[in-house]
Amino acid sequence: MKKKDTSLPERSKIPVAMTWDLDKMYPDISLWERDFKLLDPLLADFMAFKGKLGISAETLRDAFKKNDALDRCLDKVYTYAHLRADENTADSKNSSRLDQVTAKYAEIEGETAWFDPEILALPEEKMKSYLKSPTLSFYKRTLEELLRDRPHTLSEPEEKILGMVSDALSTPYKAFTMLNNADIKFPKVPNGKGGEVELTHGNYIKLVENPNREIRKSAFEAMYDTVAKYRNTFAAILDGSTKTHTFESKIRNFPSTLRASLHDDNIPEEVYTNLIATVRKNLPFLHKYFELRKKVLKLGKLDMYDIYCPIVPDCEIEVGWDEACRYVKESLEPMGKEYCAVVDKSLNERWIDVLECRGKKSGAYSSGCYDSVPYVLMNFSGTMNDVFTLAHELGHSMHSYFSHKKQDYHYANYSIFAAEAASTTNELLLHSYLMEKFTDRKLRLYLVNRLAEEIRCTVYRQTMFAEFEKMIHEKREKGIPLSADELCSSYFKLNSEYHGSAVRPDDRIRMEWARIPHFYYNYYVYKYATGFSAAIKFSENILSGDKAKLDAYMGFLFAGDSKDVLDILRDAGVDLGSPEPIESCMKHFAETVKQLEKGLSIRGQGEYPIFNKECPISK
Ligand SMILES: [Zn+2]
Repeated sequence: MKKKDTSLPERSKIPVAMTWDLDKMYPDISLWERDFKLLDPLLADFMAFKGKLGISAETLRDAFKKNDALDRCLDKVYTYAHLRADENTADSKNSSRLDQVTAKYAEIEGETAWFDPEILALPEEKMKSYLKSPTLSFYKRTLEELLRDRPHTLSEPEEKILGMVSDALSTPYKAFTMLNNADIKFPKVPNGKGGEVELTHGNYIKLVENPNREIRKSAFEAMYDTVAKYRNTFAAILDGSTKTHTFESKIRNFPSTLRASLHDDNIPEEVYTNLIATVRKNLPFLHKYFELRKKVLKLGKLDMYDIYCPIVPDCEIEVGWDEACRYVKESLEPMGKEYCAVVDKSLNERWIDVLECRGKKSGAYSSGCYDSVPYVLMNFSGTMNDVFTLAHELGHSMHSYFSHKKQDYHYANYSIFAAEAASTTNELLLHSYLMEKFTDRKLRLYLVNRLAEEIRCTVYRQTMFAEFEKMIHEKREKGIPLSADELCSSYFKLNSEYHGSAVRPDDRIRMEWARIPHFYYNYYVYKYATGFSAAIKFSENILSGDKAKLDAYMGFLFAGDSKDVLDILRDAGVDLGSPEPIESCMKHFAETVKQLEKGLSIRGQGEYPIFNKECPISK
């Protein structure tokens, strides 16, 4: 158990008003058990359609309905079990309920796996008549989506073989996780408080953010010197992962791994390549930011361990829960009455589990299902960062609330590709509200610096990762083996280009690729960058006060999965098929850096006498 944990209050000591009200879902546990028992008959109802989908349009429609009824009930029992379990991860009753439903989930998934292949195996003529049938008009999108998969679906015996090797194909990621999280041991490093601490992936970021340069240097060097000892193993594992992606894309008739991964959301390759090209074109803004950092920290050159530490003092303002709610509510007023009424409900009707308590899951998330409110879990401790977390998670929750409200269950779940746009939009509205509200220079500088860092880390850094990911997969597709030397030199070159001449290229950074789990996620990171850029555009649109633009944004929240995600975003005012949203995000970054420069410099250009290294910022 964490040392800190023992000082935390028991859940029973937390005021009820600060906890979420899960009784809304099931006022009594016997009702949850009743629903759980319903799963078997619901499964049987659906299974009765196996082998019969070709009979008639009515049969297929009924099968869709039964499938949704089963999934909907499963979602509800699962959601309740996981939320309860997160209240206190040490509670065995809660965790065994979660285990029970997780096992059921896997069982149902296995039993119902015949459904999509059976639809895809329908004769061409049959499918044509189904697509024209008014009986199936509501399910037309689902059928068309399945048809997009047809050229990439293999024969039944081939699919069976693929199913059998899928576990083996996931070995590289498992091996990476084991090596990176369990086996690798880092040395002790100075903790910045006069003592030492064992370096971990968890405390690394905090340590390289330390205002004391020696502390962050030690952490940085210890991290990469240790990772470098396993360079060949890391390289072999990452090479293995790109091999499995290449194998899967080839066997499913995709021209490349990139195209295979973009297929699910029907994203054209240009979205990915536009992002990289546009961010690259705007690297000078990032280099300028590093120049500013260098000047503020009074260094001849920045080292790679100088890019995370704060260049403005930490914002020491303490925010109470009520005040946090008020800030978030007021910042969201530009969203209009309908939106704000639901935000009010979320705050007044206990949708949020606010405080940390013993055994509670750490971090923050928004979670719910079609038959529950979209709950939020937080560990609110009264920092300004927590206020942003509240705005962020409520962004997800409002997105879920409205797409559940406006869409049938069948199309209610929005794509991950769009999710972060809704949450980040709220953060940006909060940012602009706080900038207007507060005149305190330190607080404003904190906010500006926070935004600059968000864009640097979410857009620039993730795009650098996206570029690396594309590069290594392309090499693998051409049959170039990814040795440690190859990975290190490609990464080093890319890192130097992104960081510019204000940052000294440190040989150690060659190894950074080795510790990034996202390189195993098969082209995931670019979504962070596109989502943030979309949010910049959305927040500008909302703050313009133009009612039509706000309505368009609400349309995005309402849309769920009723259309392709790029179409939903385009209808809402953001066309990610063009470089424009990325371009305008980059301009926003440049403006933010200018604002930061102006705020930090008190006697005109190039002089930053307050926050220098002789006067380290206390944390
Ligand atoms: Zn989020």
